[in-house]
Amino acid sequence: MSSEIRVRFAPSPTGYLHVGGLRTALYDYLYARKTGGKFVLRIEDTDQARYVEGAVENLLKSLKMVGLEYDEGPEVGGDFGPYYQSQRTELYLAHARELVDQDAAYRCFCTPEELTQQREEQKALGLDTRYDGRCRKLTKEETETKLANGNTFTIRLKVPREGEIVFFDLVRDRIAFQWETVDDQVLIKSDGFPTYHLANVVDDHLMGISHVIRGEEWLSSTPKHIFMYQIFGWKPPKWIHLPLILNPDKSKLSKRQGDVATEDFLKKGFLPEALINFIALLGWHSASDRELYTLDELVQEFSLKRLNKSGSVFDIEKLKWMNSHYLKTLETGYIAIKATPYFKETGVDISDREKFEQIIDFARERAATLAEFPELAKPFYTELEFSEENNELLEVEMSQNVFKFWMEKLPEIIEVNVASINALLNQTTEATGAKGKDLYFPLRLAIFGSIHGPELTMIIGILGIEKCLERLKKVIR
Ligand code: GLU
Repeated sequence: MSSEIRVRFAPSPTGYLHVGGLRTALYDYLYARKTGGKFVLRIEDTDQARYVEGAVENLLKSLKMVGLEYDEGPEVGGDFGPYYQSQRTELYLAHARELVDQDAAYRCFCTPEELTQQREEQKALGLDTRYDGRCRKLTKEETETKLANGNTFTIRLKVPREGEIVFFDLVRDRIAFQWETVDDQVLIKSDGFPTYHLANVVDDHLMGISHVIRGEEWLSSTPKHIFMYQIFGWKPPKWIHLPLILNPDKSKLSKRQGDVATEDFLKKGFLPEALINFIALLGWHSASDRELYTLDELVQEFSLKRLNKSGSVFDIEKLKWMNSHYLKTLETGYIAIKATPYFKETGVDISDREKFEQIIDFARERAATLAEFPELAKPFYTELEFSEENNELLEVEMSQNVFKFWMEKLPEIIEVNVASINALLNQTTEATGAKGKDLYFPLRLAIFGSIHGPELTMIIGILGIEKCLERLKKVIR
């Protein structure tokens, strides 16, 4: 195999793209782009029992939405396909046979009931539960007889029983496992489909994968994988096991404590730019204290050397902070496109694009997510409603005098800007005596629906003089 850098994201399609998976895919992407290598997407869909309709489509869609383009995989193809494991089952069977021939794997005829019983007995004795290896000892003749009798079987890996296995991980350095703690992993199930372990190793080799980047939960499987590489006589890839992503209470990130699906974050109004930036820092840190990065900047900065060893807390407040940064700084037109579906849902008329973009500029200064935009923009789009307390303020004589003065003078304004509105406000004070709160609160309430809010110039600029007059008219008694 060449010395080209080839990394892969190898999800089992569960129905959505978990943020942990997104992080793996992102690091794969960054490393491939940084080194001029290839980023491969391989769908590990051999578990028929866990088939979920539409899961792969969802996954591809989520990757696309956050801009992680892969070089080889479903839809784009490549020289090492097919990239769906369910289309490669013959390959796994052939390799399982080879392991059996080399006495590194064996047929296991234990029934599910027997396996359950074994586990119960081990539990009762306070032992770790794992296959007790009884079929390891079957003679060739015994195996032949069982096969001739039509007994169903699985194929298990015959891992060493003694000694230890040592390997190096780019994040954790030297790792050692005692072989006695490693299970005789099932490689081929009784339905003839491979388990993750065999298919993953065979494909990583056949697809020329140079670096395996994956979650820490796979660390304990690595000895079994390395054992297979040894038996096949293949060079193993470099191992990179990423630290856990944690809930604020330091438990492993779980659905129970909040969202974990990439698409849910996007639906809730987080921008892909923010999500990517945030996820990048969940397991990796830059050489400086800098926290804000575009995807291209991440490519420049990324290095496997700065992956974290310990778990990172998924801090939603930090994600919101990053999101509001991107909401404020990306182009108005882009934010407007991203915000459009949220407005469409509420049914307001956003066809006046100039007004809409002004409203976007108003909302993005104040929101943490796109989903908050319609509520913030409501005073610009829907009729105002006043509470009893509001009505009291609107009816005060001084307020009424201000409104009447504005009904008369506002139409005279030719261009709405800070100077023209300030001049009008000064004239209002002179004419009515109203100043400070007595001036601003009733005006803002009458035309915007609340005493606090943006500058009057901004409100009038967005609504237009006609609309303001219409609203003032409504509150004049
Ligand atoms: N199919 C495995 C998963 O969904 C892949 C693990 C690996 O990258 O080796 O997590």
